[in-house]
Amino acid sequence: MNLLPLTPDGQTPVRALTIAGTDSGGGAGIQADSRTMALCGVHACVAVAAVTVQNSVGVSGFHEVPPDVVAAQVRSVVGDIGVGAAKTGMLASTAIIEAVADVCTEVGIGRDQAVPLVVDPVCASMHGDPLLHAEALDAVPNTLIPIATVVTPNLDEVRLITGIEVVDDASARRAAEALHRLGAQWSIVKGGHLRTSSTSTDLLFDGDTFLEFTSPRIPTGNDHGGGDTLAAAIACALANGHTVPDAVAFGKEWVTKCLEVSYDLGSGHGPVSPFWRLH
Ligand code: PLP
Repeated sequence: MNLLPLTPDGQTPVRALTIAGTDSGGGAGIQADSRTMALCGVHACVAVAAVTVQNSVGVSGFHEVPPDVVAAQVRSVVGDIGVGAAKTGMLASTAIIEAVADVCTEVGIGRDQAVPLVVDPVCASMHGDPLLHAEALDAVPNTLIPIATVVTPNLDEVRLITGIEVVDDASARRAAEALHRLGAQWSIVKGGHLRTSSTSTDLLFDGDTFLEFTSPRIPTGNDHGGGDTLAAAIACALANGHTVPDAVAFGKEWVTKCLEVSYDLGSGHGPVSPFWRLH
């Protein structure tokens, strides 16, 4: 795969911002985003939206950061350090989603703005534990997706957001169109959870053209943090100035590599691993 360039020692690398929740187990959320960004040669700035209590078995609770503090972190980073791209992950509540949408618009992050925004509309963990209050589900299509340069739901999130059950290529295309109608500049419908073939195809749509990105399906239960890793890698490529299709191609190859070398951790699902980049 074509890796992103590493900045020479002592020089300031490209920056990206993640606005998301922490994972005490270190597998997903802000930990996965920061690790991905570091190993892509990108300096990670973080705005913490929620603190989760979780391990490899599940999420036993979460605590929200006050919405104005989430927004203040974004404002602080963008005003001083500057970022080439941003991504959102777990945002937990309607109030946080609204604060993030407002501050992103204020500082020039999002579709049709200077800084592209990857929206990973995180609703629940792979164990089915909630990461978004049920009452906040409407804010995802109403407030968050309209500011997305790219939105990256998995199939459960597609069903919750659009009501469309993706079972094949035709329904994946309908879902990508529905996400685009909600206001995302580009929509991705990820095929990773559609376990009907030996490959995994992500569908990208810009309102006009469908593009498909296919990789071998990696047979592993250690896929915790896979969605975060894909979205963070896309943000890194965007921060490096790549187009959305090129960034998605990079993200897909990156997460496939991370799935290939994922490892056991605890007694549940281990994380995808970007450590191959160190070898
Ligand atoms: N915890 C946090 C904080 C997350 O942001 C996410 C996903 O975005 C998860 C857990 C769930 O990750 P997974 O579905 O890979 O278990």
